[in-house]
Amino acid sequence: MLKVTLAAPRGFCTGVERAIRIADRTLKKYGAPIYVRKEIVHNKFVVETLAARGCIFVENLSEIPKPLGKIVIFSAHGVSPQVYAEAIKLGLRIVDAICPLVQKVHVQARKAARAGKAIVLIGHTGHEEVEGVIGEIETAGGKYVLVQNIDEAQNIDLSALQNTNEQAIWLSQTTLNVAETEEVVSEIRKRVKNLENPASDCICFATKDRQNALQQIAPECDFVIVVGSENSSNTNRLYEVAAAHAHDAIRVNNLSELLENDKFKELMASADALSGEQEMHIGLTSGASVPENLVAEIWDYLQSKTRSI
Ligand code: SF4
Repeated sequence: MLKVTLAAPRGFCTGVERAIRIADRTLKKYGAPIYVRKEIVHNKFVVETLAARGCIFVENLSEIPKPLGKIVIFSAHGVSPQVYAEAIKLGLRIVDAICPLVQKVHVQARKAARAGKAIVLIGHTGHEEVEGVIGEIETAGGKYVLVQNIDEAQNIDLSALQNTNEQAIWLSQTTLNVAETEEVVSEIRKRVKNLENPASDCICFATKDRQNALQQIAPECDFVIVVGSENSSNTNRLYEVAAAHAHDAIRVNNLSELLENDKFKELMASADALSGEQEMHIGLTSGASVPENLVAEIWDYLQSKTRSI
């Protein structure tokens, strides 16, 4: 027998819904084309849908053709003050779709930098959200060191933090693995004196809730399917939770990718061979930028197999 369990909550968070709503309203109000700096949220399907409606996604503001006065939407991941300044200088009209929970980290970074505190930022190099927060620190004249994982926490280079006022604070990207971040912070604490916790949690409730929900079901699953794009940080963290707690796990964008996946093909072959009371348990979840219809098509497919096995 094939058993499928859906994790709840999963899929769209409020920050993603808000960003998509902003893009939708901007398109309706001003008409296409509307320029969007970077992917508005890290999901291929969302980006392709908005592109089909007239959003033009650019990596840099310099790609937006003149004349001036064009609208640019900033993504849910936020931008640095430098990018804001550049947009103003280029004469662009800004619509900012930053998630309020990312903005909260920007505010904490700015305050800490202005207070002369050393900032230990936990996050991934090159991620848009991290670049935005680093920009806040630099603009406020602060000093920071970026730590990506336990290994880097154990070998943290504190030379960049010289001439701060002996107080330090850690901040993080909003979409990290909760358990791993706790370990990273305790490693940093061994090496950085007077390390303060952020005034309020940096990892957002949507990330935590989705990881907790998956952690509840994964230990009983033979296989977990995580739906989401490969550049989505919170999706990748869900995959890590699944891989750590379930027997096996994969990440896919949608049903057609799932059906092409070798591990899944093998799984379905062994499901076909199940006999009598034997049970195979599949868990299903999705990242915070994934529309529910992508999960629903996988759910429907699995349900059809449940009936046929
Ligand atoms: S995952 Fe969290 S920080 Fe990112 S958009 Fe959603 S609510 Fe905001």
